[in-house]
Amino acid sequence: MPTIETTLPSATELTGRSIIGFSRGKSGGAAFRAFDPQTGKTAEPEFTSASLDEVDQAVELAVAAAPEWAKAPGKIRAEFLRAIAAGLEKIADAIIDRAQLETGLPQGRFKSELARTCGQMRLFAEVVEEGSWVAARIDRAEPKRAPQPKPDIRSMIIPLGPVVVFGASNFPLAFSVGGGDTVSAWASGNPVIVKAHPAHPGTGELVGRVVADTVRSLRLPEGLFSLLFDSGVAVGQALVKHPDVKAVGFTGSLAGGRALMDLAASRPEPIPVFAEMGSTNPVFVLPGALKERGGQIAAGLYGSITLGGGQFCTKPGIVFLPQSDASQDLARDVEKRVSEAAPFTLLTSGIHKAFVRGLDERKKSAANLRVTAGNGSSKVDGYRVNPAVIQTDVATFLSELELSEELFGPATLLVSHSNKSQALEAAAKLKGHLTATVHGTEQDFAEYADLISLLQTKVGRLVFNGYPTGVEVSHAMVHGGPYPATSDGRSTSVGTQAILRFARPVCFQDCPDVLLPQELKDANPLHIWRMVDGEMTRDSTTRPV
Ligand code: NAP
Repeated sequence: MPTIETTLPSATELTGRSIIGFSRGKSGGAAFRAFDPQTGKTAEPEFTSASLDEVDQAVELAVAAAPEWAKAPGKIRAEFLRAIAAGLEKIADAIIDRAQLETGLPQGRFKSELARTCGQMRLFAEVVEEGSWVAARIDRAEPKRAPQPKPDIRSMIIPLGPVVVFGASNFPLAFSVGGGDTVSAWASGNPVIVKAHPAHPGTGELVGRVVADTVRSLRLPEGLFSLLFDSGVAVGQALVKHPDVKAVGFTGSLAGGRALMDLAASRPEPIPVFAEMGSTNPVFVLPGALKERGGQIAAGLYGSITLGGGQFCTKPGIVFLPQSDASQDLARDVEKRVSEAAPFTLLTSGIHKAFVRGLDERKKSAANLRVTAGNGSSKVDGYRVNPAVIQTDVATFLSELELSEELFGPATLLVSHSNKSQALEAAAKLKGHLTATVHGTEQDFAEYADLISLLQTKVGRLVFNGYPTGVEVSHAMVHGGPYPATSDGRSTSVGTQAILRFARPVCFQDCPDVLLPQELKDANPLHIWRMVDGEMTRDSTTRPV
């Protein structure tokens, strides 16, 4: 493993400047600072927004890097990812301290988020080193086939070109500068330009410096990575509109994601935007489970609703319950926990305002709606809020479907129904979500099989007798779902299948072996799994004469 050289005297000293390949952004752009959400006060240093010339420079470098990185063997890509992970671990304390300051979230959260971020890099390293992810297929020629001879057809997945990633406010490490979108785009052979989230620019710079220093130490192409700061939306929009950018990854609000989708679609050459947006993650508690373990489910739900201050895209935001004494006990239990809880700190003033406004709107929206908010404090500093539980019945829910929209923060909606057909009617009205959760006994699952089938059409992940927060980074994970949960329900932003988003298939017909990429050559020099004439094999192949 090479030693990572730092470009500054101290690897953890912040400069507030964008990173454009091996250079630093210039001064003069709009200045902004991070905020400490615990106090609402600004933090040092001052950050400088990138200029539109710097956007062009970053894209130009990415374009120049693209062909070399697209051809880089899996072992070079793996070495890059592992070296970044090692570099981040080397300055873990500085990263964790800064992330805590910029988010108000506890140290333990960042120890595990950093471990997840590095683990994710190492998992993608294994995938690209093994190499079979390119889905190589070979249909051998049949020169003697009648009436038409069959040509030799070979296909595999290749990178798209420069990818722009918008870091998420709620995951400064795992979904930001070196997060899942960036890593999956690098792994599939694309250069990446990150538009830093203005809520945690210092954390972004620390991670970005490790990446830039790794690119330089390993003598990789300079444009493999740039990190641009901006106090507003101009840089992000210029990046999405830039004709040489080929795809976008985004995590954030439906309004932001939709604006970028529309911008990308309106370009002369439209490009894909993989946006992960709002989700309310419905939970259905079935009658047998409610009777058997209602208290346990109440405790689990409360934990999942308030984890990270409720600022997870997988937070359970609607819970459907069959009306009974047991459901009233569950609701009272959640209400009690909420009313006794201390306030939670939200990440940004925007998220804070949206939560307070969303709760007020819900209070006014329907007569048959009961809101219980925590009593932690009526005078809270910084971006703190009391948690809340909202309760209504299924008829009100069905007449006010806005109630199923995301309320980002520590709150949930309990909806009671009288029978299974009402539960099915409510499920049928749901839009796309990242997850749905069902609590049931064996008998419940047999009786509600049609609900489970219906939910499959609404979400990317079904959770049984558990809680949706906590998303495993693994090979089979799907963190996606139909619109509006994401812009493209055929994809996932977590897990190794995320590598397929920033790539496209290409096919070679009757191509001489010498011109084929390693993955498709007759000898199979990389020894990867390939589909040859419909059968999976790692053997070499021959050409019929
Ligand atoms: P956001 O407002 O969507 O912003 C995310 C990123 O996109 C930021 O870098 C933002 O830049 C940029 N952006 C937003 N609108 C844009 C536009 N029209 N053109 C170009 N760039 C644009 O999300 P957020 O600040 O993280 O949080 C706000 C809300 O998003 C939350 O209240 C929550 O509802 C939702 N959220 C959802 C998830 C999820 O995983 N589903 C995660 C986080 C947040 P600027 O900040 O400079 O505008």
